[in-house]
Amino acid sequence: MNTLQVNTQVNTIHQNKSQDTSQSANTSQNAHHHQNAEHNAFHQFHLSQQLLAAIQRMGYTEPTQIQTNAIPPILAGKDVVGESATGSGKTLAFGCGVIERTVPSAGLQALILTPTRELAEQVKDSLCQISFQKQLRIISVYGGVGMEPQIHALGQANIVVATPGRLNDHLQRRTINLLNVNVLVLDEADRMLDMGFIEDIEKIMSACRNRKQTLFFSATFPPQIVRLTTKYMNNPIRVQARRHVDPTKMEQVYYNVPTNMKLSLLVHLMKSEPFTLIMVFCNTRRTTDFVVKNLRTNGIDAIAIHGGFAQNKRTRTIQQFKEGNQIVLVCTDVAARGLHIDNVSHVYNYEIPKDPDDYVHRIGRTARAGEEGKVVNLLSESDYDQFGRLQNSRHQFAIRRVDVPEVDRVRVLQTDQGRRGGFGGGNRRFGTQNNRSRFKHRSWRR
Ligand code: ADP
Ligand code: MG
Repeated sequence: MNTLQVNTQVNTIHQNKSQDTSQSANTSQNAHHHQNAEHNAFHQFHLSQQLLAAIQRMGYTEPTQIQTNAIPPILAGKDVVGESATGSGKTLAFGCGVIERTVPSAGLQALILTPTRELAEQVKDSLCQISFQKQLRIISVYGGVGMEPQIHALGQANIVVATPGRLNDHLQRRTINLLNVNVLVLDEADRMLDMGFIEDIEKIMSACRNRKQTLFFSATFPPQIVRLTTKYMNNPIRVQARRHVDPTKMEQVYYNVPTNMKLSLLVHLMKSEPFTLIMVFCNTRRTTDFVVKNLRTNGIDAIAIHGGFAQNKRTRTIQQFKEGNQIVLVCTDVAARGLHIDNVSHVYNYEIPKDPDDYVHRIGRTARAGEEGKVVNLLSESDYDQFGRLQNSRHQFAIRRVDVPEVDRVRVLQTDQGRRGGFGGGNRRFGTQNNRSRFKHRSWRR
């Protein structure tokens, strides 16, 4: 069995304990490049002119730390496990490798898998930008929309960004052929390899049996997932950019509030603090419905997304949120992974997630790419266990307690039939439904 090597050389160079951002670390490393103003620090990777031009056009002049660490081994054809904070530029890190290795009119050569449809769409858009000078056909493939247009597009595609369920549907119908795929990427890899997806992923991996390179990227890699990598990869190199979110850029607080005052406190806080965009995370679809309805009742411009909505509604909602100002998006963890939305000033956790890693991804929707952000946790009795576990496992977060202010009790419509109910719950693994297909894609279903 192959062992996971830690690329110590790469890690040592970048174990930069100073407060410097990755940018200044790179500036000193590549000082000679900057003597020529036309030089872009991405030159160090010896990328093609086409790719450099695209990067220049996107306005990037300095690679982020994960890009500096991951791009060289990726270009050298190695299997790479890349771990770095949310918002640190992982898409471009693997995107460079994927785009460099893919050529027009040679069929399907690269496959990228993501846990949600929205992320598939976003990654596809990023790859289109990265490859703008190359005539590559890049498509997204996910469920909830028609099969036929996808089948048509698959005939021409060079790169596919997909969610696993729909991709497997295509495999079963033989409307996709993965035998010429060279590069397989799992974005949000820890999620892709967890129980909800693993069966589909294994089928897809064996269909990509001729691949030469496998890349896993995420902000979180639990040890059991790291152990799994050796099963699917060939002498993988693990690259990390361990700088977690800059604590001065992200403030995290919590309130202890009785369940029956939680919504009132939420409304109060939203009305008393200026914001641009807010995401409110809930653990279940049912709570999401409850919260969005009651925010609206109380005059707050709120929209909702969870796995229960039709795909065209999900797409419209995300679009509306991205383009909006002073809008609140109430959501389940379906929106926690990978989505990059500018100007999310606040993340509220209306409920604390069971898995501390889910918390990491939720809060990672704010304070992205150097911006500021605030995280507000509203804790009632049912959250204390989860919150305790979170604090034990993530001491570095230093979540500050704030006393609950005087709050007017707002009108609450009890449309919520049991906030902690089983049906409609977020975690279907232990649910009562026996139709496996209804809960196999756990995170879509949230
Ligand atoms: P991650 O996948 O690590 O959460 P993304 O790939 O979504 O992060 O990138 C986060 C943001 O950072 C995106 O808006 C992206 O365009 C931007 N970005 C990526 N690389 C760079 C760079 N080298 N310089 C500046 N911005 C970058
Ligand atoms: Mg990402």
